[in-house]
Amino acid sequence: MTAANDSTDHPDPIRDPLAEVVARHRQNTSGDVATYIPERATVDADGFGAALVSVHGKVHRAGDADRPFTIQSVSKPFVYAMAVSELGLEEVHRHVGVEPSGEPFNAISLDPDTGRPDNPLINAGAIVTSALVDGSTANERFERVRTFLSACAGRELDLDVEVFASESANGDRNRALAHLARSSGALRRSVDDATEVYFRQCSVIVTTEDLAVMGATLANSGVNPLTKRQVMSERAATITLSIMATCGMYDHSGEWMARVGLPAKSGVGGGIVAVQPAQFGIGVHSPRLDSWGNSVRGSAVLQSLSQDFDLHLFDHPNEPRSPIVSWETDGGVTVGVLRGEFDLISAEAVIELMLEAVAGGSRTIRLDVTGVTRSRTGARHLFQVISRHLEARDIDIVVEGNLD
Ligand code: GLN
Repeated sequence: MTAANDSTDHPDPIRDPLAEVVARHRQNTSGDVATYIPERATVDADGFGAALVSVHGKVHRAGDADRPFTIQSVSKPFVYAMAVSELGLEEVHRHVGVEPSGEPFNAISLDPDTGRPDNPLINAGAIVTSALVDGSTANERFERVRTFLSACAGRELDLDVEVFASESANGDRNRALAHLARSSGALRRSVDDATEVYFRQCSVIVTTEDLAVMGATLANSGVNPLTKRQVMSERAATITLSIMATCGMYDHSGEWMARVGLPAKSGVGGGIVAVQPAQFGIGVHSPRLDSWGNSVRGSAVLQSLSQDFDLHLFDHPNEPRSPIVSWETDGGVTVGVLRGEFDLISAEAVIELMLEAVAGGSRTIRLDVTGVTRSRTGARHLFQVISRHLEARDIDIVVEGNLD
């Protein structure tokens, strides 16, 4: 018997290429570890890991996937998701916008008319967003944030107290941003209170596996794929991914979306979370940063993965998937069998065939939709409009299974 027959020795078709991509970029030592706080300068610059978690809850790790580091700005989209989930987009939107600022993460990007920060992923916007979290003291609010981040990661996350102390002792620029946001009315709490929660949320300790689970929670419409808990509303997950796509990599976001094509968020700790909606989250970590403050090797890994596995969101086959398994007419009865996702383009194809069948003399159209795994509201609406129209002309429309 060869080793290949040993059940413990199967290749892992996801972990192996992930490990290969990490190995491919290991020699790249360009960039610098962030030194804006003394605490950061002490980290091991060589740590390098990646993890991928699917919406099925499968975990794949490569390199130093279990090495702890502080989450830093990767916390921002999640705290935003928490605020949107609890308060609704409109209320959150009164305090912080959704426009890319095109400026560095710590820039003074406040709307000249309203004073609102441009988006929740630059520091000014993140501080305003943390202040929207409910709770009577900074301590209580941070506990709620920590509990939420933990629910996204599927395990209890802790605070690095030394990093927090260092963030707080060296946080004058962030306090200045908070003062400006406060003076314009965007910041709901005192500067000290708001920045304390923000500094703490940046100092939460994670691993790449945690980031991957958190990303997979966004990919999975807000349901943590490991715990199966709905930790945020579906709408909050959608909006958060949109903002990550447009603002997640700061003033490098446009280039990132064009080249990598996945919503992502980086942090000065060297972590990046990236998401393939409906499929998986990826966490990467390597502390050396480029001039935008994004992990050099982390970005390189995600770019390679995107190319090697066609992950770009806007990459699509040039023929739309057909939902139609079979379509037959016999003696005035047309029978169609559908499967997979019933989306707008599927509805368009089905409606055309229905109208053709009627023009060809069919009086009954029977659709078997038992193989449809998901139907989109818009597609159902089109189908209902055409069904009602045909029924008014005495055509029998029979649907087997459920399109809802
Ligand atoms: N704690 C950092 C700061 O506020 C977070 C910034 C980041 O990760 N880009 O400056």
